[in-house]
Amino acid sequence: MNLKDHLLAQIALNGPMSVADFMTECLLNPKFGYYTTRDPLGAQGDFTTAPEISQMFGEMIGLALAQSWMDQDKPDRFILAELGPGRGTLMADILRATSSVSGFHEAAEIVLFEASPALRDRQAQSLSGHNPRWIDMLTDLPDAPLLLVANEFFDALPVRQFIRDGDSWCERLIGAQGESLTYGLGPNTAQVALTDRMIDTQDGDLVELCAAAIPILTVIAGRIATYGGAGLIVDYGDWHSLGDTFQALQSHERVDPLQAPGRADLTAHVDFEPLAIAARAAGCAHTKLTPQGMFLERLGITARAQALAAPLGGSELETLIAAHRRLTHPEEMGNLFKVLGLYPSYAAPPPGLEP
Ligand code: SAH
Repeated sequence: MNLKDHLLAQIALNGPMSVADFMTECLLNPKFGYYTTRDPLGAQGDFTTAPEISQMFGEMIGLALAQSWMDQDKPDRFILAELGPGRGTLMADILRATSSVSGFHEAAEIVLFEASPALRDRQAQSLSGHNPRWIDMLTDLPDAPLLLVANEFFDALPVRQFIRDGDSWCERLIGAQGESLTYGLGPNTAQVALTDRMIDTQDGDLVELCAAAIPILTVIAGRIATYGGAGLIVDYGDWHSLGDTFQALQSHERVDPLQAPGRADLTAHVDFEPLAIAARAAGCAHTKLTPQGMFLERLGITARAQALAAPLGGSELETLIAAHRRLTHPEEMGNLFKVLGLYPSYAAPPPGLEP
């Protein structure tokens, strides 16, 4: 049995499945799932991420979180948490960059939220000596101030897709034709969760709904509002994404999501407005959605790049310059990726971001 046979059997038994259920099976099926069975990151893998491109990314995030900790009177115990830590590179860079912030490490309890056993092992290696702890449910986050980062986590959460038909919506479903997986459409239904999308869409438009993100935001924002702290959510997407952003990446190339179930990374752009609404509903303030390039520039990434560049020459220098460009330039990750900051309404927003 492989994942495709398993999906075909499920469809034969239950009928066509939502894109969200397909994503969940492909990414997190305990036996065949893409994340559950491998480490997909880096140049040799299927995709790369900002922390894997350069240590400067994690350094800037670390300094921003440490600044929020100082702005909030340095609580002597707080949770330093990451959602979907991948190889643990970002957290390792955050810890290295903050090692000289007096009292920060002593007060930090490192908590990681990670679904993949393979990546948990990888994170344990990267963070050996720092004593991280993994939680299975976000509600297991201790009742304490929370400094949290999530980079390319929300884009991996399952989305449902709906196509507008007058005042109602047809869900895009995945069914089977013979031995192949194919797209189809479900019946017209009213979708209360899409009421606000009646304003910015027309007949035939496709919108995506990431229901899983909301309870996650509610817990994080609730902790920050109640106990203090800050959250940095970094991902590609926009305030409202529109159209089909469901994509599969294999060996850094886009492939058809239905062709290689369990063997390609599946993502969808993040809709930030519903995250911001959930944060507000939980009593937490949030910043303006800010392009990653602008955020990193404001935090001083160019000065940091210059300092790192000083002793370098040749190909090492070129690699550093390319990494700086890749993280910040509007035509690379600088504009596509956005940052949403969460903070308690009585406190200052995280540095680099505006209320
Ligand atoms: N933040 C890392 C990795 C991004 S890849 C980086 O920037 O390099 C997405 C990460 O989220 C992986 O670690 C993946 O295993 C994890 N993940 C995906 N879906 C998840 C879920 N539902 N619950 C917990 N972790 C999840």
